[in-house]
Amino acid sequence: MKSCPKTKAGYINVHLVPHSHDDVGWLKTVDQYYYGDNNKIQLGAVQYTLDSVVEELKKSPDRRFIYVESAFFWRWWTNQDAEMQEIVTRLVNNGQLEFILGGWVMIMNDEACSHYNSIIDQMTLGLRFLNETFGECARPKVAWQIDPFGHSREQASLFAQMGFDGLFFGRLDYQDKEFRKQNKDMEMIWSASPNNLGNASWLFTGALYNGYNPPDGYCFDIFCEDDPINDDPKLSGYNLVEKVNNFINIAQDWAEPYDTGHVLMTMGSDFQYMAAHTWYKNLDKLIKYVNRKQITNSSRVNLLYSTPSCYLQEVNKSKRPLSVKKDDFFPYASDPHAFWTGYFSSRPTLKYFVQKANNFLQVCKQLAVGAFNGHPPQKIVDSVRDFSEPVGIAQHHDAVSGTAKQHVTDDYSLRLTVGMKSCESVVDKAFRKLQHASLNEVQAESNEFPRSFSNGLSTTYEFCQLLNISVCTASETMSDFVVSVYNPLARDLQNAYIRIPVSSPLWDVQGQSGLISSQIVNIPQPVLGIPGRRSKALYELVFSVDSLPGLSLSNFQIRKNTTEHVHSLKIKSQLKAIKKGGRVIHSSASNLAAANLREDFMIKNSNGLAIVFDSITGLLKSVIKGSVEVPVEQNFYFYLGMAGDNSKFEKRASGAYIFRPNTTGSQPSPITERVFSYQVYKGSHVTEVHQVFTEWISQVIRLYDKTDLVEFEWMIGPVPVEDNYGKEIITRYSTDIPTKGVFFTDANGRQLKHENVSGNYYPVNSRMVISSNEDLSQDQLSLVVLNDRAQGGTSMNDGEIELMLHRRLLFDDAFGVGEPLNETAYGTGLVARGKHWLLLAGEGTGVPISKHREAAQNIFMDKIMGFADVSLLQHNEYSFMRNAVSTRNPDLSARNTMVSGLVQVLPTNVHLLTLEPVSPTQFLLRLEHFYEKREDPVNSEPVTISLEALKQALPSVKSIMETTLGGNQWIEDLKRFEWIPRTVQENANEHVSVVQGAIVLHPMEIKTFLVNT
Ligand SMILES: [Zn+2]
Repeated sequence: MKSCPKTKAGYINVHLVPHSHDDVGWLKTVDQYYYGDNNKIQLGAVQYTLDSVVEELKKSPDRRFIYVESAFFWRWWTNQDAEMQEIVTRLVNNGQLEFILGGWVMIMNDEACSHYNSIIDQMTLGLRFLNETFGECARPKVAWQIDPFGHSREQASLFAQMGFDGLFFGRLDYQDKEFRKQNKDMEMIWSASPNNLGNASWLFTGALYNGYNPPDGYCFDIFCEDDPINDDPKLSGYNLVEKVNNFINIAQDWAEPYDTGHVLMTMGSDFQYMAAHTWYKNLDKLIKYVNRKQITNSSRVNLLYSTPSCYLQEVNKSKRPLSVKKDDFFPYASDPHAFWTGYFSSRPTLKYFVQKANNFLQVCKQLAVGAFNGHPPQKIVDSVRDFSEPVGIAQHHDAVSGTAKQHVTDDYSLRLTVGMKSCESVVDKAFRKLQHASLNEVQAESNEFPRSFSNGLSTTYEFCQLLNISVCTASETMSDFVVSVYNPLARDLQNAYIRIPVSSPLWDVQGQSGLISSQIVNIPQPVLGIPGRRSKALYELVFSVDSLPGLSLSNFQIRKNTTEHVHSLKIKSQLKAIKKGGRVIHSSASNLAAANLREDFMIKNSNGLAIVFDSITGLLKSVIKGSVEVPVEQNFYFYLGMAGDNSKFEKRASGAYIFRPNTTGSQPSPITERVFSYQVYKGSHVTEVHQVFTEWISQVIRLYDKTDLVEFEWMIGPVPVEDNYGKEIITRYSTDIPTKGVFFTDANGRQLKHENVSGNYYPVNSRMVISSNEDLSQDQLSLVVLNDRAQGGTSMNDGEIELMLHRRLLFDDAFGVGEPLNETAYGTGLVARGKHWLLLAGEGTGVPISKHREAAQNIFMDKIMGFADVSLLQHNEYSFMRNAVSTRNPDLSARNTMVSGLVQVLPTNVHLLTLEPVSPTQFLLRLEHFYEKREDPVNSEPVTISLEALKQALPSVKSIMETTLGGNQWIEDLKRFEWIPRTVQENANEHVSVVQGAIVLHPMEIKTFLVNT
């Protein structure tokens, strides 16, 4: 057990915490920061920091250092020889070197823009690395989010479930901070999941006094200009008396709002300690001389080298009752004109990439376990890790947040792309293996096929990662191919729609039950014109599948059809539609005045969902579901970004971090009052309205035949800035639902939070909800908008949902990045394309409000398609594939399934959050109850899963053990500090959670297991 330094009762104990804040990319790339290249941009070389700190720690057992960013530490550690590794291990074991937080990225992931799936993954990667390298002694007990720009209670709840004893952060709203200082409320209990997990989600939370910096005058780094402590009276510049007395005053000031006789002082800052002796030499002196004053009784201040966990131990011992906080620390304002809400939406294409990367990574992880029967070769495990690392790094508070320099952002994208290639090879192998396994079974039964496929299919799969701009080289160039669709949900996906970009209009689609009806839709002109888009695709082939079985592959064969007489009925109608550019039922392109005479037009689907358009403006006018019609106008608007030189608060510019419209409190201007043109394409699977608003904004509003969701696919850019104004583009859904200024946003894609400061922007990871009642467990009318990436959102006016889609700005906001957020690509402003889904629910609609849970999950765990050229298959394989896709035998698809048993074992309210290889003989399993309490009469109930049934459903299980959320501690060893709330709290957690031989999951609960195979 590591020892903490001794403190003195009756004194102000100042815990000096030497630390370095090492961003995993910001102004320089992660590798540049590690090695120290590109120092003309910023001095920073983490390798020297670690070299230097270790040398200094060796000199005195009193000295301490905390280290946070595993991604850097791992780089350094693997370059050390055995001797150095031994020294470091000793420093870890005796408590001199303490790991804090422990996530991979930096551990310090962004809290506004990161999805909970990615937060858990990146933390797990870092925590398990520390565990495997140093064992229990290195397990971080304290979370350290000193730099992120606002804090989310879901993040705190996840930390609690990872077993952390406390959380410290540096940034909170400047007014809130003042208030807390005055009221001695800088430390609190954060009840981070108050409606669901109760005490289990309590997390001690401390706001640091001065961000993460040392007091003025006491920065002893080579980067700093403060004078060193000169204790030689013979020399000029002797300043000991002054330095000591000053420090004693500062210590008293800092300690006051904490009121326990202890205060944590952060001695370090960004990329400091590259020459660690300058720090330690001066801190040694400071401690010696300040403490010497105790002898003469002239001071009650006691300095000590310490760490956050040692500090926290003392605070816990003090038994000071703490206030209880239940909401978020968003938005964060650092001065009256600096609201850090721009980054919720900055760099929309990177944010999308990060979300899609997580989607593909989860598929890769699942298949690496399932397709290899729980025993993936080490190479497969390594390939998964090759993608896990960049996806982890992308969660950094300067990565997914969009607040890094452009070249660093490009580096994040490059890392994601390279990592994705590794996982593509895993998914390809897995797909072929699953096909092969199923092929063997068919052979065994029928003898029809020769046993010749020992290595799986002889073709490889292509994965089209640009489907969001309707590009897929494989499907555009092949004339006979198989598309294998993997559904990563542990439940069957009903009424799924498949869209495939193609270059010509005539196709046959063959599915399990024979020929499937399909539809051809034109790709909108603005999409064809996206700068840099290289594609032959002019159409998208659309077909529907009644059910995609969970955790399974489903095959479809797509063949070019040149003989028109085959299936003439379908094709003729399609041809007709195509010749006329689709079956256009309304077009306002030429003359809107004439449209005055027309009636509004309506599009319906067979789920009783209908959307009505105003034929004069071409805008959405209302949405009808069941017996309810709600006026919903949707349009695009812009704010002019504030220009400024940041010379004072009033001159703060809107930038990568800050959202500041040029006239505060003003409403945004519509881009246009009516659409420039619209076209309606009608078909049996989908009806689409293609709207063009301006040269740089277009949209497709899409109604699939069997769905409760209206899909909006928006496209924005290049945002014009020739007028020298930066612009921030939003969309609004305006309804007449009486919301009384209340709206709901999600926290990191999980808990819903109640917001009531209209006009404040909040992070929206997955959805926003407005409703006619503040209690969402009632059946009142509600409107949900789901999104496909993190965005900022608000409700400026009653009944309204506003989301920011794109930002192009011409000034830097002076928080360090040093570049205006002016993204360009292919010589012009960056174009972004993305989706929203609108869901009308509650009273009269026949749709439960809780439907958003399932819908959001379908989005972040979207199906993945692989394309294989049939002409490359051997003859017998070809026969098989034909057979596989056309057989009516329902068992066949079940055979393509990995761990299909899980689908039967898991109740509908339980999500398979993680199935991830750890080694060739171990994997991690996470099961999540993904509903909140009272949200749904059935799905919000606790569930019990038989352990035996679970074992049967998983591949090759030898043993299964529950761990904490980070997978680095057995659950029975979990012991966290207890805290005393200032006021009596309801305990929401009084429930049975241990049932012999079974797993019990309560609302919002996640259970993690380490499985040996
Ligand atoms: Zn930072």
